Amino acid sequence: MDSNCIFCKIVNGEIPARFAHRDDRVVAISDVNPQAPTHLLVMPVAHHANIGELSDAADRALTAELFAVASRLGREHGPDGYRLVMNTGADGGQTVDHLHVHVLAGRQMSWPPG
Ligand code: 5GP
Ligand code: ZN
Repeated sequence: MDSNCIFCKIVNGEIPARFAHRDDRVVAISDVNPQAPTHLLVMPVAHHANIGELSDAADRALTAELFAVASRLGREHGPDGYRLVMNTGADGGQTVDHLHVHVLAGRQMSWPPG
């Protein structure tokens, strides 16, 4: 846990959120500023800043678990399709440095993203 991290505080219950999934290792919450009818954030309980850091860590299975939860929620909320996004670093548009997968569904997505 990183005591300055807003998503660690959400995972630990210090900041309230609406949970769409919760197990020992992965949680999913509703984004506070949704960009689609469904906008969820899937994240590890453990603090990893980004996908690079998680890939460097010993726990390789956690990446698969994150995508398993994200794709299940995507399929549930977007039977006709959905989008998974991982903004990474400053140029990637990441604003919270606790790894998370955005699950966006419920509208036609455009490409390229901004
Ligand atoms: P990023 O910009 O890092 O890819 O995504 C961070 C996301 O976290 C944004 O979509 C933002 O709306 C969301 N967010 C920031 N603070 C909170 C919060 O306190 N609660 C929830 N549920 N979402 C948050
Ligand atoms: Zn964190």
